[in-house]
Amino acid sequence: EPENVSEPEPQKISEGLAEVQTTGKVFYNPVQEFNRDLSISVISTYTRQLLKDQLCTQPGVKCEAGISILEALSATGLRSIRYAKEIPGINKIIANDISARAVQDINSNIKLNNVEDLIEASQNDATMLMYQHKKDSFDVIDLDPYGCPSIFLDSAVQSIKNGGLLLVTATDMAILAGNTPETCYVKYGAVSLRMKCCHEMALRILLQCIESHANRYGRYIEPLLSVSADFYVRVFVKVFHGAQKCKHTISKLSHVYHCTGCDSFALQPLGVTKPHEKNDKLVKFCLPTGPPVSSKCEHCGGSYHIGGPIWSAPIHHPTFVKEVLTSASPGLGTYKRIQGVLSVISEELVDVPLYYTLERLAGTIKVETPSMMAVRSAILNAGFRVSYTHANKTSIKTDAPARVVWDIMRCW
Ligand code: SAM
Repeated sequence: EPENVSEPEPQKISEGLAEVQTTGKVFYNPVQEFNRDLSISVISTYTRQLLKDQLCTQPGVKCEAGISILEALSATGLRSIRYAKEIPGINKIIANDISARAVQDINSNIKLNNVEDLIEASQNDATMLMYQHKKDSFDVIDLDPYGCPSIFLDSAVQSIKNGGLLLVTATDMAILAGNTPETCYVKYGAVSLRMKCCHEMALRILLQCIESHANRYGRYIEPLLSVSADFYVRVFVKVFHGAQKCKHTISKLSHVYHCTGCDSFALQPLGVTKPHEKNDKLVKFCLPTGPPVSSKCEHCGGSYHIGGPIWSAPIHHPTFVKEVLTSASPGLGTYKRIQGVLSVISEELVDVPLYYTLERLAGTIKVETPSMMAVRSAILNAGFRVSYTHANKTSIKTDAPARVVWDIMRCW
């Protein structure tokens, strides 16, 4: 840089209990406050469940029995500082970034917030850092990259403890939402489809990708919460060790048959679906109609595109979601939004993958869009279940076969 160009005035950012500064050259996105607030709520619930009655209740104070967190892509350190000051039960946080400028910001922000006891700054390639920590692994790893997170997954699943919490953001929505299926396959190992339910597809492709990385090391995931918001998706999963249980992965993944004519869809599991633990209701999931028997769509004669594999088991853990919902702090800047999103999620049919949208159903058969209430009642009267999804306001998530849904729409 030429010598006579002076440094810009530092930008002051205040969010939650953190005050940070950056010269503006390090990444900071105010829109991600919801992402950070939600992560604080989820990690707090996870930590409380993990530590149970150990007396770590005060945030901002080092807890010897507490958890370790790696924020692998930290930018200004804002997120780590908020974790340190707002989540009780933390022993240590590493705030890492590859950029020297970012680590300069992280170091000065640690001092500014007096959290030297809790946070250590690190300048490393995140993947290298995680490989180095394979033995003394982390309770929580947060991956919040630009775009696609897949290059960080191999090392993340190896450097997380058994039962640890992995938080992953993906912002390359165009790829996940079916604009470039080939690129999606290259990055995520799954073919994306252009469907109305593309936001849930994005979540399920990302979960499938994490599971596939975990499986390589005899590990598997349990999704706690999966959220589509603004321009990104964010998943919160536990990672467990257990080579035997990895054999059940094929029953949690499916190919998607998508009719390009009417947007109907059907799922074909990669393997047999059976509960992997006695009394474990979560692994019993319903698939809408099974794979199509002919190469043409039975509803409109259109042709199918095949996508996936996607994660077709539940994407949320209902009791965990309820606990986050009841324990989230009303002081959070996006508290109302968290309440709204988690309330809808807690009513989602957790065992029914994907959804229709009302206007697309009506548009396909060229009828006036009926009221959502009327369609939902008709589905219930026909003996099936129906819910919204947080990913789309006009969504219809149902275990009714597509044939029944079309019959209802045609009766209008
Ligand atoms: N988590 C931050 C927050 O909530 O404000 C935002 C992180 S920003 C989207 C992504 C950061 O990742 C950038 O600061 C960039 O320098 C860093 N980064 C990119 N590639 C990296 C790598 N291989 N290892 C570590 N950091 C990396």
